[in-house]
Amino acid sequence: MKEKFLIYLNKLLDFIYKKKCYICGSSKECVKVCSKCYSEMTFSTFGVNRAIDGVEIYSAGVYEKNIQKMIRGIKYHRQKELAYYMAKFMWEYFSKVCTDVEYQVVPVPLHKSRRKKRGYNHMELVANEFCKLNGFVPNYELIKRIKNTKPQYKLSQQEKLKNLENAFKVDKSKLLDKPVLLIDDICTSGATFGSMIKELKLNGIEKITCFAMSSPEW
Ligand SMILES: [Zn+2]
Repeated sequence: MKEKFLIYLNKLLDFIYKKKCYICGSSKECVKVCSKCYSEMTFSTFGVNRAIDGVEIYSAGVYEKNIQKMIRGIKYHRQKELAYYMAKFMWEYFSKVCTDVEYQVVPVPLHKSRRKKRGYNHMELVANEFCKLNGFVPNYELIKRIKNTKPQYKLSQQEKLKNLENAFKVDKSKLLDKPVLLIDDICTSGATFGSMIKELKLNGIEKITCFAMSSPEW
């Protein structure tokens, strides 16, 4: 009852304050991402994007326009509500390519100092919404980021690999009896997934799939 009331109250407040679409600014639908902007996001080809160490990597959309704006919004401008739309888009893609496996969903972790600075890990928010849609189980504890790495986009391919060397640590006591689905916002060089795959495999964890919200178009 209380929950229903809160949902109603939220809708009422959205209506009174005319919630605007974060992407186009329209307040017609009183939502964070309007149906027009949502439908403009481009899906990637449905299928494996590439493989690293025998692990399949999937990517839901092309990193441009609306997807780019959403990722920047949730990452740098505290637009946490965008998590739902990212998760929805990811599930619309993933439900077409995945088989009936139930995964433990592991978002790429942030180093504790960066997490503290930002106040949250946006990929945890996305994982949480994603699991609500498909009944998968989120797992935020399996892998920790033990090295405070530099932002990857500034570095060359060689530097990226060096930067991520020994950046992650698996806590095997947190492993669930399900295959691992690693999720991230963008996959460009694949260095982050690669480093996590390496650490998981060192711990004997072999059933891994990687899934990014977006990649640049190949
Ligand atoms: Zn819009």
